[in-house]
Amino acid sequence: MQSAISKIKHAKRIVVKVGTSTLTYSTGRINLRRIEQLSRALADLSHEGREIILVTSGAVGVGMSKLGLAERPKTTREKQAASAVGQSELMSIYGKLFGEYGCDVAQILLTKNVIEDEKRKNNAITTFNTLLEWGVIPIVNENDAISTEEIEFGDNDTLSAMVACLVQADLLIILSDIDGLYSADPHKSEDAKLIDEIDEITDDLFRIAGGAGSSRGTGGMSTKLIAAQRVMENGIPMIITNGQRPAVIYDVLDGKRVGTLFNGKRQEV
Ligand code: GLU
Repeated sequence: MQSAISKIKHAKRIVVKVGTSTLTYSTGRINLRRIEQLSRALADLSHEGREIILVTSGAVGVGMSKLGLAERPKTTREKQAASAVGQSELMSIYGKLFGEYGCDVAQILLTKNVIEDEKRKNNAITTFNTLLEWGVIPIVNENDAISTEEIEFGDNDTLSAMVACLVQADLLIILSDIDGLYSADPHKSEDAKLIDEIDEITDDLFRIAGGAGSSRGTGGMSTKLIAAQRVMENGIPMIITNGQRPAVIYDVLDGKRVGTLFNGKRQEV
């Protein structure tokens, strides 16, 4: 029986999710240094023979920055328009940086109704598999420009879990602006301790996680727990760790204890 750490070290197909607060400065402008480090690490893992899928937020955030909007748009119409401005900018930055490290990227924009429709879902799976076969890194976001409430995932934590299940990934890594899940809110309580490992998502964890996201992104800890629940049910382990230093991904794959590990349920069978 393979241990959780050994499974992670040998993970071949890896979904990495990065949020807006990791990709942008508090000024709202894009953090090029961080995106450069992230692209470099992921390109390197791809060269090593791993299959990497990046789920990125930032379309709305980068759009806001380009348009000079001080606050995240609240109406669907404004969110859609801002994302259309930001998404192309985001892809052009990723294309340039991954290209510098010898990797091709592809854009895949999803909506919930793609995943719910068997035929479209299978088409998406085939596209992912073909790109990965070619050594291309699929970069996924929600298709915010056309997403309305009925067809939207709403947050990229959920989207990344759906993608991990869709492509039957070996591991989901969520890069956040915090080290992992704490026993209490670390901004409020000095006694808050990082939880290393979680085998089961309980109501207690949801209570600890609270609701809040940042002003630039949408997710908080609770969307991450929902994501964890989904992948764990499918036997896929998930790690939440701090994306401030994107090279932390190497530590994860070296089997070092970083962040919070959510064990996939079917792992030990
Ligand atoms: N799809 C949104 C964007 O690109 C992000 C959603 C999220 O932050 O979870 O801005």
